[in-house]
Amino acid sequence: MEHEYKKKSVYEKHYTKDDLSKTVEKYLSFLKFGKTERKCVEYTVRAAEAAGFTAFEDGKKYNPGDKVYLINRGKAVCFVIFGKQPMTAGVHIAAAHIDSPRLDLKVNPVSEESGLLLLKTHYYGGIKKYQWTALPLALEGIVIRKDGTAVDLRREDLTFCVTDLLPHLAGDQMKKTLAEGVEGEDLRVLAGSEPVKDGDKDSVKANVLRLLYEEFGIEEDDLQCAELTMVPKLEPALIGFDKSMVGAYGQDDRVCAFTAFEGLLDVTETPEKTAMVFLVDKEEVGSDGVTGMQGRFFERALRRLSGGADLLTICAASRCLSADVNAALDPIYPNVLDKQNACEMGFGPCITKYTGARGKSSTSDASAETMFYFIKKMREADVTFQTGELGKVDVGGGGTIAKYMANRDIDTVDIGVGLLSMHAPFEIASVADVYETRRAMHAFLK
Ligand code: MN
Ligand code: MN
Repeated sequence: MEHEYKKKSVYEKHYTKDDLSKTVEKYLSFLKFGKTERKCVEYTVRAAEAAGFTAFEDGKKYNPGDKVYLINRGKAVCFVIFGKQPMTAGVHIAAAHIDSPRLDLKVNPVSEESGLLLLKTHYYGGIKKYQWTALPLALEGIVIRKDGTAVDLRREDLTFCVTDLLPHLAGDQMKKTLAEGVEGEDLRVLAGSEPVKDGDKDSVKANVLRLLYEEFGIEEDDLQCAELTMVPKLEPALIGFDKSMVGAYGQDDRVCAFTAFEGLLDVTETPEKTAMVFLVDKEEVGSDGVTGMQGRFFERALRRLSGGADLLTICAASRCLSADVNAALDPIYPNVLDKQNACEMGFGPCITKYTGARGKSSTSDASAETMFYFIKKMREADVTFQTGELGKVDVGGGGTIAKYMANRDIDTVDIGVGLLSMHAPFEIASVADVYETRRAMHAFLK
């Protein structure tokens, strides 16, 4: 049978190590800088400006081929290359999220207990809590001071961690399930131990507050007007003797954000349809809010970009690749996946017809026609891809932003890179898949 479904390895294509390493070097520097959605916006806007994109201006006349961007509150961004056809003929959208699971600081985080300064956290997104103890952490985010100025708290020389119990005394803890062994309230971050005299008592907290004031000009109550978070302080690295994989924090979904963005930068000729890359916040917590995919910034951007054209007409004619990661087959845990419909490392981006859980609950489930459209595009551009779903039918599931695009009357399907250790502090992707996903995005956007 000529057209039996047989996966092809990306390695069957004769890429040189050099082809792959050019993409991956860029990707590593993106991951190193882009530890939060704000930093991903900062990084991509800077790179886009270097590639000729400018901030969109209302009322200005734009021509086919012009490149613009619109930023939403510093936490989401939309990059556009205007096509030859008007936007009412449809827009080609690749959308990915730039938020990742992490430990957010509570609004009142500072506490001193038994001579140690601890910062209370509230985890963001789906994490296995035990993975976040005894791990170097970096502080990320901003605080708005009383005069209204924002200060960025990223400092390379600051390191934190959550402590764990020594095995010698962990008898009771070790009998608990993995879900219960470390509880949410226990994820308190170690942030100081040196006391100063404060009145007639010694205070570690007073010392840390003094340091915060001296370094950042912030006081304890300024932390109420802040977005502060702890992320793994781990260098992105190439994994294996063959350096064929990338290990890093936050690859869900920055691997798709990166490949979509680079795929757009690879567009050198004016596209027929307007090409858009939409990088969005809040996917890991349900896509709600002003910077999430359910927010109205998307409509506002379309209206502004099109000069007030009918949004329903634009959406109905548009198509979207919802670019998000999938679970790659892990030989240590093969039983949670249906091998025949699982995503495997090195076989290119996985086109995922539907996500959701159990009886396809909460998925947009791309139509046969939509699958045909995108698969044809991939075949025409000689992109190596695979098709699959996330996990065995009754084992679990997950969601992406696909349904929020589809609910807007936009034909949408999920595509993305398979990861090992998804949502862990250190996630693994295949270098070949990163490369091929960039080609897949370009094939759609060009
Ligand atoms: Mn994701
Ligand atoms: Mn996720």
